[in-house]
Amino acid sequence: MPVPRKDEKRNPFISRCVHELVHGEGKDPKAAVGECYGIWDEHKKKVLDNSSTGYKILQWMKGQKSSETMVQCEHCLEYFDYTKEKEAGMGYIKCPGCGRNIDQEGKGVKKELNEGGE
Ligand SMILES: [Zn+2]
Repeated sequence: MPVPRKDEKRNPFISRCVHELVHGEGKDPKAAVGECYGIWDEHKKKVLDNSSTGYKILQWMKGQKSSETMVQCEHCLEYFDYTKEKEAGMGYIKCPGCGRNIDQEGKGVKKELNEGGE
């Protein structure tokens, strides 16, 4: 069971964790994502119990909020923050995992989508 390393940020942890569960333990990617978020939340709660400084709570709250922008690529199952990636075009970005164009729901986007030829 992967646990967050010291100073590991949430997104890298989720990616690493999902990868370990999917490739290491053969879990279903969607289930793995849920499990990893569970592990992360548990870990953060423990951190808060041990040291409930305002700063840490603030950082944790920030981390929680950004989950709304988390997206998973349907091609390579890479999990990342949509808002942290550069837009590759109108309403889509390049997946940091496989380099394909995907929209904010992680669905593939065809680059030359009915451009109309000439
Ligand atoms: Zn991808």
